[in-house]
Amino acid sequence: MSMPRISWRGGHGRTRSAVVITLTGVLALLGALVGTGSAAAQSDRTYVIATDVTFAPFEFQNEQGDFVGIDMDLLAAIAEDQGFDYQVKPLGFNAAVQALQSRQVDGVIAGMSITDERKLVFDFSDPYFESGVQMAVSTDNDDITSYEDLRGQRVAVKTGTEGAAFADSIKNQYGFTTVTFDDSASMYDDVKTGNSVAVFDDYPVLLYGIAQGNGLKTVTEKEAGASYGFAVSKGQNAELLSMFNAGLANVKASGQYDQIIDTYLGEGAQTAQGDNTFFSLLRDSFPLLMEGLWLTIVLTVVSLAIAVVLGLIFGFFRVSTSRILRGIGVTYVDIFRGTPLIVQAFFIYFGIPAALDFKMPAMTAGIITLSLNAGAYITEIIRGGILSVDKGQMEAARSLGMGYLPAMRKVVLPQAFRTMMPSFVNQTVITLKDTSILSVIGIAELTQTGKIIIARNFESFNMWLIVGIFYFVIIMALTKLSDRLEKRINQ
Ligand code: GLN
Repeated sequence: MSMPRISWRGGHGRTRSAVVITLTGVLALLGALVGTGSAAAQSDRTYVIATDVTFAPFEFQNEQGDFVGIDMDLLAAIAEDQGFDYQVKPLGFNAAVQALQSRQVDGVIAGMSITDERKLVFDFSDPYFESGVQMAVSTDNDDITSYEDLRGQRVAVKTGTEGAAFADSIKNQYGFTTVTFDDSASMYDDVKTGNSVAVFDDYPVLLYGIAQGNGLKTVTEKEAGASYGFAVSKGQNAELLSMFNAGLANVKASGQYDQIIDTYLGEGAQTAQGDNTFFSLLRDSFPLLMEGLWLTIVLTVVSLAIAVVLGLIFGFFRVSTSRILRGIGVTYVDIFRGTPLIVQAFFIYFGIPAALDFKMPAMTAGIITLSLNAGAYITEIIRGGILSVDKGQMEAARSLGMGYLPAMRKVVLPQAFRTMMPSFVNQTVITLKDTSILSVIGIAELTQTGKIIIARNFESFNMWLIVGIFYFVIIMALTKLSDRLEKRINQ
């Protein structure tokens, strides 16, 4: 069966140049987004420092939404002492280390252990805290009292950490398996729900969490481990590293260092908070979640706007009579439909800048990823819409002397639009939900905001319920709105 195809005959020259102009426009827009980002990051000498989302007492968000903790306070004190500006990016441990490796950020402070392996890729500051790995189990678990009891069981670890490396080094000997998570809070949850029987994490973090009432306890001694250091990419930012070292020496000498440690680990350090009910959590987290939601909406709207332009261009390519243009259209759609969004996000945020040695802000990478991904689906929606309009419509318009583009714009597209409308609404909802995947590159949209809050209060059930309700409400509002719009258009 041959598919009806819209012809490019006649208006060739003009159509082609229109396509070229639009394409250049889109590329220029993407280029501008990338360009402004990297320029801003370099010109004003504000160092970008990545950190973990949740590694209390080293870094965590307090009730007011500020990042605090030993690392955060130390960095602030050192920056003040040395007079440099910085911006903190809570990416999560593994993402932070990867971002440093691909030179997306200038440094990492994240309770990062100084290991020989890491010294091959990173330069570390002088050590600022002695640490080590320890095991923890759920408070109501009395079966596990030693590594021997782990045989045949599942143990939670965090991607790319010392804790994970230690668990891997003994898992054959003790016959257990490991399961990896991106953040400490998810790891602890897995133990509390009983999916994993134990977790390996740095002991100061475990002990702090236990004091906060995270539902875990330790049953074994800690293992001797490496100290924490501030890291930069090997051979890069030597100036920042030496400022860090000089500042660290100064804040140690002035007693400020001891003060910071005391704030979080001393006698007077804050302990378990009061009861968290659904409504008190909703009230406390509302302002932060609204900020996250706002970012989710911005990501969706901007990405969809670009995706529609991409979809129009490649949609026309797909129905063109030119084999080359059709080929380009098919390739684009195949690539972005044929790979998972999360892989695209990692490739665009970590892969490309690492290969080409430039910086791309996470927000830019997120928008590029979502636009290209949604653009591929919209291309197909537009192709389907155009093909659904009877070929005779175009022929009739052309025989009346209309040019190709005017005929397309005035006759074919308005009819096609009606068919496309429900699919567009569908794609909008999908793109809105897809923004949550961008939490993996540390964008503080709604999902990432939820993760960060849970890292502080360990209330995963209620918090994910609240986050789910936020998404549900906004998507329902969107659906109702588009229903109305559709009715209007159909009248
Ligand atoms: N100290 C551990 C490491 O460097 C864990 C760090 C973290 O989870 N933030 O691997």
